[in-house]
Amino acid sequence: MARTKLVVGNWKMYGVGSDIAEIEAIAASAKKFPQVETGLCVPATLIERAVRAVPGFPIGAQDVHFAEKGAHTGCVATAMLVDAGATMAIVGHSERRDAQRETDDEVRQKASAALDAGLLTILCVGESLTVREAGDAVPNVERQLDSSLPRGIDVSKLALAYEPIWAIGTGRTATAADIGEMHSALRRRLRAAYGDAGDEIRILYGGSVKPMNAAEIFSVKDVDGALVGGASLKAADFVPIIEAAA
Ligand code: PEP
Repeated sequence: MARTKLVVGNWKMYGVGSDIAEIEAIAASAKKFPQVETGLCVPATLIERAVRAVPGFPIGAQDVHFAEKGAHTGCVATAMLVDAGATMAIVGHSERRDAQRETDDEVRQKASAALDAGLLTILCVGESLTVREAGDAVPNVERQLDSSLPRGIDVSKLALAYEPIWAIGTGRTATAADIGEMHSALRRRLRAAYGDAGDEIRILYGGSVKPMNAAEIFSVKDVDGALVGGASLKAADFVPIIEAAA
């Protein structure tokens, strides 16, 4: 089935008010490629300013808390993100699974909370280098997916990002064959979990996507877009990636 390509930038812990001009440049150029859905997940402190600067261009968060409210110092609830104007959120990024020790169960609850709030929710999965080198990448990521997937909820706004941990921010990318093998396996798991609705869920690739490798990655079967870190910080890098998806 035809799925609209989705290309989302993850600004990680980069970006202050003076970078809004870059967001404006990205949003202005993205309009030239209406066949591609795009957006930027920025630090929480920038969401409201970015939304005001680029009305109509999707701005998202990089994490959510699964609780509605409560004694969770430093955390941000989905309703707060929606209130700030966010329309999307990343959950389960490997940098959080690793540094914040987020478990699959927490990621599943976060995905549920984000979907409940109406956010386009990008759920990340991916294997370590040790797992890849041991030849266990596919079963390992399948297991991670099965235990991170939200259940009993409308998944029409769910997207998946396959991000091999060893490819994030390293300049190394998975081969087209490895990406294709993983994305087909994940597509099968989504169908098993959600039936026909699983076919509509976009599976993005993430891990050192750059202007020079984007076209090759987007040509792989079952790659429905990209989650882009470093190369999303500047319009000069990010816009050619959006163009490659068009
Ligand atoms: C990411 O942050 O999700 C990511 C894929 O980063 P990079 O593109 O820099 O590897």
